[in-house]
Amino acid sequence: MKECIFCKISNGEIQGEKIYENDNFFSIPDANPIAEGHSLIISKRHFATTLELPNTIGAELLDCIKSTSLILMKKYGSNGFNITNNNFKSAGQVVSHVHFHILPRKEGDNKRGIYLG
Ligand code: 5GP
Ligand code: ZN
Repeated sequence: MKECIFCKISNGEIQGEKIYENDNFFSIPDANPIAEGHSLIISKRHFATTLELPNTIGAELLDCIKSTSLILMKKYGSNGFNITNNNFKSAGQVVSHVHFHILPRKEGDNKRGIYLG
């Protein structure tokens, strides 16, 4: 998609500091983090929401989520993490290119289990 910000990061038109990548997904730090280490798992190809993601790349999505979370937990000394995925405007999706938020967590960080920013 021509004017999609995440497509531009995916194809290298805009620089993004990659944390991890595989054939179908990559991860980068969120530009406006709501917690230390807040990062995004982004599909390399343009799909608007999770509903459009082909089931066949589900294993790679899981690989990217797990690998990125482990890297972030080590880097930020955290011992937990939340995964959030907003789908459609009504659910708070601002960028219409499917992505998953990873929020590293620490014991006693005074945040609740369900993290809606
Ligand atoms: P959504 O509300 O769509 O689930 O979240 C979009 C996220 O993308 C927001 O947390 C926002 O800070 C992040 N974001 C928007 N534009 C950029 C960008 O150009 N680079 C990065 N790294 N993150 C972005
Ligand atoms: Zn896109």
